[in-house]
Amino acid sequence: MLEIPESKTISVQAGNTLIGKRITKVITATSPHKFAFYCGDPAEYLNLLAGRQIQSTKGHGMFVDLYCDENSCITIGDGTNMRYYSSDEQHPEKHQLLIEFDDGSFLAFTVAMYGGIWAYLGIFDNPYYQGSKNSISPLDDAFDEVYFDHIFKSVTKDLSLKALLATEQRIPGLGNGVLQDILFNAGIHPKRKKSTLSDFQKSELFHSLKVTLDKMTTMRGRDTEKDFFGNVGGYETILSKKTINNPCPNCGHQIVKEAYLGGAIYFCPACQAL
Ligand SMILES: [Zn+2]
Repeated sequence: MLEIPESKTISVQAGNTLIGKRITKVITATSPHKFAFYCGDPAEYLNLLAGRQIQSTKGHGMFVDLYCDENSCITIGDGTNMRYYSSDEQHPEKHQLLIEFDDGSFLAFTVAMYGGIWAYLGIFDNPYYQGSKNSISPLDDAFDEVYFDHIFKSVTKDLSLKALLATEQRIPGLGNGVLQDILFNAGIHPKRKKSTLSDFQKSELFHSLKVTLDKMTTMRGRDTEKDFFGNVGGYETILSKKTINNPCPNCGHQIVKEAYLGGAIYFCPACQAL
């Protein structure tokens, strides 16, 4: 899924690869998908995008934008995979959109469970997108302890740390995936209530959030996700579906998986006591 480290990584890779290329072809889905979302009719995307040149890219929250000339833009959201292929590679059999460039290279967009592939002129009027684009990223210096404190104080005292950090998009792009290692590194259980944290623990949490997301991004995303070229990310997750049977790297205790608030949580019961 696209969370902060992956949206940033993919946007940088896409920028390095695509800027200056001109779109020549748009091929609609070879495999229609009930939960692939578009702006209007994707059959119109050819009219909108043919001849457009990629000028810049931006990753924010759970979105990646490809900005073209003439004020047109392509945006993908969480759940959509955007993969680059060189001109000597075959089109994949199944996709939900394919865009070809003047040098024969192309992008294939695929959706697993659900996801958006939006092409539009001007502004994309989606509240989650706008909230993400206008927010301060934890990767930015402006996301400091004062800013974090402001988010912390904006919710009720009984809220759990998972609910606080990874629901309602209070911090766009901080989802259930990256949450696990942020809380592990801070030594805090996902179900801990906000009001039970000491000032010291709150500060530890802030630093873990910054350092963990920065490391995940520097390492080209998590090892549970794929980048723009289809390669697995270089950040080795401590707590994820890949490490479920591993002992805790700190204490050797068995890592536990539970369902909580619409997704799996992983934790070490010793290092992250409730
Ligand atoms: Zn442990």
